[in-house]
Amino acid sequence: MKITNKNGIPAPIFRSISKNWYGGAGEKKQFCSVTQLLKSAKIFVLEKRYARELQEEASDLIWALMGSAMHKVLEKSESKNSLNEERLSCEISGKIISGGIDLYENSVISDFKFTSVWTYIYGSRLQEWTEQLNIYSYLYAKANFPVERLQVIAIFRDWSKLKSRIESDYPQQVMIVPIKLWKMSRTEKFIKEKLSQLETALKLPDDKIAPCTLAQRWQDPEKFAVMKKGNKRALKLFESRELASRFISFHKDREKLNIEIRESLPRRCQDYCLVNGYCNFFQNYKKMKNNLKTAKEEISWPKSAAS
Ligand code: SF4
Repeated sequence: MKITNKNGIPAPIFRSISKNWYGGAGEKKQFCSVTQLLKSAKIFVLEKRYARELQEEASDLIWALMGSAMHKVLEKSESKNSLNEERLSCEISGKIISGGIDLYENSVISDFKFTSVWTYIYGSRLQEWTEQLNIYSYLYAKANFPVERLQVIAIFRDWSKLKSRIESDYPQQVMIVPIKLWKMSRTEKFIKEKLSQLETALKLPDDKIAPCTLAQRWQDPEKFAVMKKGNKRALKLFESRELASRFISFHKDREKLNIEIRESLPRRCQDYCLVNGYCNFFQNYKKMKNNLKTAKEEISWPKSAAS
């Protein structure tokens, strides 16, 4: 992977980022790390296949660098009852997986996240954190360390002192997020299913691997807006075209109403996926968008200019 500096971040920071500070690659013979296991099959395989060609812009890694710096500092706070930044591995379905766990203390696994306050408020990464920490718990249990609780210690990089003063439900700057502990059997089943999905995808050509799901693409489902002629704002938004049509059919002004599709962007594909240049789903999506744009431009082209 090549780190680029198109945005010209200062040299000392760029050097730190380029040094590949992250030490969590794990053993050579391992199948994958916990982080990789939790990726979608499409991202996992394309990142493996195109590892040498991939590029990442240094400015996109600033927060990751800050997170690593935080981990380095926390590592020094080890007590005699704790294990900090321990990397554990285990074999499951004949494959080795490994994970670097921030803190194990008094049978509690804690993972430090340097994250946005909005992630906490909306709980948008709770599912991912639950899966990750339960796999860590599995690794510890396999190494004969009992686990009784899981938690994320969230440190907010965009926390506002002003908001914390005026909004009663605004979080503190650091919050503990309790994570549901699964039974070992559930975690084992989950890991086996993920491994099997990744293994199957590895045997397929790029274009035959299913695209990431809406959630994995960080894309909201499309909405159907009922619009009244002459109005800019929707009368009502619906989850499906059927519901929108039904609403229109019962409306007194039904002749003046029509449906507009409100599509949301696949945010991850667009700005946060390293393999988007190799992904047929995103390349087709881009082509479709460009075609639509061209068609709209042709329609709105003034007649005099066109002739
Ligand atoms: S471009 Fe989108 S669909 Fe393709 S691998 Fe990346 S996130 Fe998944």
